[in-house]
Amino acid sequence: MNKYDLIMIRFGELSTKGKNKKEFISLLFDNVRNALKEFSSLTYERRYDHIYIHLEGEDIDRVVDTLKEIPGIHSISLVKRVDSDIELIKKAALDLIKDEEGYTFKVTCKRANKEFPIHSDEVIRSVATVILKNTNLKVDVHNPDILLSIEIRDEGTYLFFKTIPCMGGYPLGVGGKALLMLSGGIDSPVAAYLLIRKGVRIECVHFASPPYTSEGVIIKLVDILTKLNKYQSEIRLHIVPFTAIQECIYKNIPEPYCITEMRRYMYKIADKLARKRKCLVIANGESIGQVASQTLASLKTINEVTSFPIIRPLAVLDKEEIIRLAGKIGTYEISIRPFEDCCTIFAPKNPKTAPKLDEIKKFEEKLELDELIEEALKNIDTRVIK
Ligand code: ATP
Ligand code: MG
Repeated sequence: MNKYDLIMIRFGELSTKGKNKKEFISLLFDNVRNALKEFSSLTYERRYDHIYIHLEGEDIDRVVDTLKEIPGIHSISLVKRVDSDIELIKKAALDLIKDEEGYTFKVTCKRANKEFPIHSDEVIRSVATVILKNTNLKVDVHNPDILLSIEIRDEGTYLFFKTIPCMGGYPLGVGGKALLMLSGGIDSPVAAYLLIRKGVRIECVHFASPPYTSEGVIIKLVDILTKLNKYQSEIRLHIVPFTAIQECIYKNIPEPYCITEMRRYMYKIADKLARKRKCLVIANGESIGQVASQTLASLKTINEVTSFPIIRPLAVLDKEEIIRLAGKIGTYEISIRPFEDCCTIFAPKNPKTAPKLDEIKKFEEKLELDELIEEALKNIDTRVIK
């Protein structure tokens, strides 16, 4: 039988108060229960500042690993709860600390329940005394091997040693829905992860250009989204047939402008799809300066086709930081599989880094792509990855 019977879940400092905080906690509560539904004996307790899970003999390590990947949880601790009685607190402290490794210790105490008659300093002193008397441990207040935390709350007193950092952010669903532009590259899956961590649910749009791009790219996307299912259990992927539009651009527009044009059309289609799917924002993996189409001047010219806010979680990150995150979430190995993306196949040798909007607009007048856009939208292939 494990000496810990409870897991304490912390949300971090919430700036939201009152009704918003209640909703936030309800959502997180549902998400936690949903993520842990395979552990059928767990029971849950919802309180103002924390959620508690009664372990009821379930596999602690697996439960902890699952909790680490849930957006909105900032940290967790394995805790022991006793009635708020100083003798019981002392006994529990001694029982627990005997199994810890180290030579020195420190006790901290938070008295959230102000009705508890003993001040925290005094609690610390009497708990430390009983430990000193009954073990070989010494006190070290600066750099202890063992830190015993005691929290006295309305419903009881909690004792624990470690605080395990988790994903942070907000519970999924709290921030509405984003349409994320997903390529087969390294960047966009990382952008997806960062959005989900902020509580934003995603749907994905991918622009496919068969036969220039193969079915291998789609398999890659499904594998990437399967990795991301850990954080969002169901993700919709809209595959837009983009070949006709792309061919039309490359036939009619001077090569240095092609990438700008292609991205403007991707945005135009994303705009229409986002409206239809009730997404509040469009998001992608663009990062300032990474390629010609991602200079500030290019982004401004491309962005002009839509009134949606565009969220670019990677805007200010360097490639090394993005790669590190991709490794952490497990998408890097999938992203580097060698399949051609439509951007790489049609990539011009000398793309414009500061494409002028008036020039672009002149080219576009000749293109008459509206019908092709409607056609592409009509033929979207939607899959749900779960
Ligand atoms: P890489 O890791 O190779 O940079 P990438 O996915 O970032 O891959 P970019 O050419 O930098 O590719 O494209 C910038 C962003 O535009 C991507 O992060 C993605 O959000 C979006 N994008 C690019 N190509 C597509 C596509 N075929 N379908 C959907 N979105 C795309
Ligand atoms: Mg990129």
